[in-house]
Amino acid sequence: MTTFETVIGLEVHAQLKTNTKIFCGCSTEFGKPPNTNTCEVCLGLPGVLPVLNRKAVEFAIKAGLATHCTIARKSVFARKNYFYPDLPKGYQISQYELPLCSKGYLDIEVEGQKKRVGLTRIHMEEDAGKLVHDLGASDVSHVDLNRACTPLIEIVSEPDMRGPKEASAYLKRLRDILVYLEICDGNMEEGSFRCDANVSIRPLGQKEFGTRCELKNMNSFRNVERAIEYEVKRQEALILDGKKVVQETRLWNADKGVSESMRSKEEANDYRYFPDPDLLPLIVEEAWVERLRKEQPELAFEKAERFARDYAIPAYDAEVLTAEKSVAQHWEAAVKLAAGIEPKKLSNLYMTHLLKLQKDVPETFERIKSATVAEVLKMTEAGDISLGMAKEILDEVAASGKAVADIVEAKGMKQVSDTGAIEAVVDKVLADNPKNLADYRSGKDKLFGFFVGQTMKALGGKANPKVVNDILIQKLKG
Ligand code: ADP
Ligand code: MG
Ligand code: ZN
Repeated sequence: MTTFETVIGLEVHAQLKTNTKIFCGCSTEFGKPPNTNTCEVCLGLPGVLPVLNRKAVEFAIKAGLATHCTIARKSVFARKNYFYPDLPKGYQISQYELPLCSKGYLDIEVEGQKKRVGLTRIHMEEDAGKLVHDLGASDVSHVDLNRACTPLIEIVSEPDMRGPKEASAYLKRLRDILVYLEICDGNMEEGSFRCDANVSIRPLGQKEFGTRCELKNMNSFRNVERAIEYEVKRQEALILDGKKVVQETRLWNADKGVSESMRSKEEANDYRYFPDPDLLPLIVEEAWVERLRKEQPELAFEKAERFARDYAIPAYDAEVLTAEKSVAQHWEAAVKLAAGIEPKKLSNLYMTHLLKLQKDVPETFERIKSATVAEVLKMTEAGDISLGMAKEILDEVAASGKAVADIVEAKGMKQVSDTGAIEAVVDKVLADNPKNLADYRSGKDKLFGFFVGQTMKALGGKANPKVVNDILIQKLKG
């Protein structure tokens, strides 16, 4: 039986987070009433001229630099001609022969295996509008052009991936980069980060690629994996059945768990690209690229590597802590403010408590300041409060925004570390339980826990466990 190898190349469209559109001054704000974020330019009225948004170019260059691309000194905008009701000009302004960025790469890791995936190109283009169906009358569709002319970058990979896991690892790494650069919000469900997957298979050892199909309409990492797994099985079945894979575009149907043919190669558009005569070639000065290179922020995986190295926390912790940039910054600030406390203790608190709390209270990391985390942990280290109390205090800060001191005061949370007070209670516990005391002294070591429990209970659970233990050890010796 033939063993097949899967070959995958991905095309990603990422919406750039500029305030205004790529060729006009209209706002890109999401969720406005239909067709209110529009003007003559993005409505495609005759006689208007596009003006390129400098910020959008800057964002695209940042993406190129972070993925090790060559930034072209000169690139060209082209018209991609096709008809569709959400495209008022009858063409999309994109880049074709001379893209802004080319020949980059991205490093991924799957199950401990490192791998480099080549990037063919990153080019700039405008988004189209949106068709709105099902607004009452079933025989009518509406057009909303608020999204028309929103800046996008298209990131095209080389056919370097060899399985669904590699594809999703690539997508995650790419999304992390764009989000950390603060140039894209990375939201797959809302479509600001969308992916088309080109998939083919070939007998293992064969050099030539097989015929590929392009999969569209996958709005989560999970669905990208599922769609590719399905496609690989479909192509294998065809070939083993003596049939041929035909090049086509297929739509993933997540509810049914299948893909359906959308159009074949013969039905594909001939876009008749040509340079847009309304736009001058884009000239990028070296000095601009150099300035942006210097300004590049630390990326998620770089931060994770540094956290693991400099703070001696496990790689897994570092990855979890850096998944969201604001959380990573929050944690690192807390580590610095809690000087002297092991970073691993802070990592534990974030991983086992604060990140969970954030799921219930999204404002957790705004309401609880890094300084608050440091303050509470210092109290724990000093034995003033228990770790349980520390968590309770943080919950309360997240819920009410109250100051730590006020919460401690109101809840009477101060942990008893006063040796005299604890000694008195221990004496009483021993006096009240003569039988257990005698049993303990004759060798029933297990009763130690009983005495700890009784002492803690008598002190309302607020005693410092270490002090209680020390005193009990002393007193039980007799
Ligand atoms: P198009 O513009 O028609 O989609 P491209 O040549 O730009 O075609 O390729 C698009 C994507 O398809 C790229 O990401 C590329 O890596 C990938 N690709 C090309 N050939 C194959 C193949 N045989 N199997 C899988 N992916 C492929
Ligand atoms: Mg394509
Ligand atoms: Zn406009």
